Parts: sequence; structure tokens; C-alpha cells
Amino acid sequence: QNRVFGGFRKTSERLSGNLAGIGGQTRLTDAQLDELEDALILSDLGPRAAMRIRDRLATRQFPRGSDERAIQEAVAEEIAEILRPVAKPLEVTAFPRPHVVLVIGVNGSGKTTTIAKLAHLFQEEDYAVMLAAGDTFRAAAIGQLKVWADRIGVPVVTGPEGGDPASVVFDGVKAATQQGIDALIVDTAGRLQNKRELMDELAKIRKVLGRLNPEAPHDVVLVLDATNGQNALAQIDVFKEVAGVTGLVMTKLDGTARGGVLVAAAEQYGLPIHAIGVGEGLDDLRPFDPDLVARVIA
Ligand code: GDP
Repeated sequence: QNRVFGGFRKTSERLSGNLAGIGGQTRLTDAQLDELEDALILSDLGPRAAMRIRDRLATRQFPRGSDERAIQEAVAEEIAEILRPVAKPLEVTAFPRPHVVLVIGVNGSGKTTTIAKLAHLFQEEDYAVMLAAGDTFRAAAIGQLKVWADRIGVPVVTGPEGGDPASVVFDGVKAATQQGIDALIVDTAGRLQNKRELMDELAKIRKVLGRLNPEAPHDVVLVLDATNGQNALAQIDVFKEVAGVTGLVMTKLDGTARGGVLVAAAEQYGLPIHAIGVGEGLDDLRPFDPDLVARVIA
């Protein structure tokens, strides 16, 4: 489990000897609670989640003779309680088809890779999948999406570089409808430097989608790079405003010590977390398992 989730350094490993001495007592001391709270913040859980866990542990009775393991288990339980309500896999539910998933996020966050992984996952669930290259701003983005589409054997709708993303999306929905596609996954430009333009672009995509199917997009998934730590949270704020995010995928949890940012995101935003990325391969998108993640972080 630690091999896969290389990103998580246990919070308990950050605690010094102070916590070892609760042998004869039934509650944690204020000093111990302070240390625990600091360790949680260092693990990127953010001040709100850290304080919540601290407050919960402050009232907790530990059996006499408990050791760090008991604290670790208690912390894991509190983390799991924060994570459980937001664990929701992405599902293909829309009728009429296609179910349209708009994927957003800054460049480099792992958006394209996540789209390929998601398409692969849907395929394994026996859904017919199509991709649409709505990031027309970067020629490389279109090319990269095509490479992935070829690799997993799904059709991809593209337009010219610099073309209108909304028209690519329009073509995508038309083609998907004609071909009986279940899920259409749409890549979008991740240009946060120009918020206004991005906002207009996404609004136009939404307008075109809405005309074809009032319920679309059915999901607006924000891809976040866990290695950005607390900056990933700032991106949620911006994209919520710009794009109306409905759920999250956190990537690169294999290569970082910032796994706690998942907990911060859950506590602060309550947005569904659909899956986590733990590597560059197609099979490296994992269901978000709150209890597993909580145990690894704690
Ligand atoms: P985009 O610019 O947002 O579309 O990002 P890409 O999908 O091109 O990904 C950027 C880089 O991150 C690539 O080298 C990917 O292989 C890598 N990457 C994406 N997801 C993960 C992940 O979960 N773990 C690791 N280690 N690398 C990832």
C-alpha cells in the first residue's frame, strides 16, 4: 500500500516522542494535541481539518495503557469521517446518451492522462467512450489526446489548432449521439493566466452543450495535482467560480508527500472526489477509498 501511495507520509511519523507517554492517562494533554495539530498541518490537511480532528481527539477517552497506535487509529477514524461523504465514483448515468464529462484543470495537472485513464475505466465497464479535444489552444494537447485515443482504441473528435472549442464539443456530441456512445469526455484548455477568456470559453461550451442536451455537462471534473499542496486548493476556488466544478480527481499521489491535501479539500469544499491518480499508466487511476487513504495518512 505504501508503494502505490508513495505520496502519503504518515502523520504519526511526524510526531515526536511526546505522544508516547499517555500510558497512565485517559486523555491527550494540550501539548500533545498541539503537536498533533501541527503534524496534521504539516501533512497538508489544512488548518480547518487539523482543528476539527484536534477538537474531536480532545474529548476522546483512551483506555489506560494506550500507545501511539491507539492515537493513530483515532486519527485515521477522524480522517475517514471527513473523507467518506465525498467518495463518489464517476458514473455514466445520463439518458439520453451521451453522458458528457467536461474535464478542466491547469496545464500539467495530469488532465490528458486522467482523461485517458477515465476512458479506459469506462471501457472496462463496457461503456462506449469518445473523446473531444476541446483544448484547441495548444496543438500539443490535441496531438497528445489523439495518441491516447489510439492507444486505448476510442474515437476522438478534434478541430483545428486555434479553432473554436465549442464547435469541437458540438461535433463531439453530434458524433457521439449518432454512434451510440455512452460517455463523451471533453478536454478543455487550462489557461488560468487568462481567467476571463477561459470563463468565456467554458460558458460558450456550456451554452452549446445545453442546446443539444439541457442536462449536459453531466459532470465537470477538476483535475488537481497533489504535488501543488495547498495551491491545489486555491485552484478549486478559481475553477469553482469559472467553471462550476462538480467533482475532483487528484493526481500524482504516488510521487509526493502531500496526500493530506485530499482531506483539506474534502473538509473545505465537500466536493465529490471521484478517483485518485497514482502513476502515469492507464491502470493508475484508483477508486477513492476513504478508509484506505485515512489509514495511510494517519
Ligand atoms: P495536462 O497538461 O494537464 O494534460 O497533463 P498531462 O496529462 O500531460 O500530465 C502531465 C505529466 O504528469 C505527464 O508526464 C504525466 O505522465 C504525469 N502524470 C499524470 N498523472 C499522474 C499521476 O497520477 N502520477 C504521476 N506520477 N504522474 C502523472
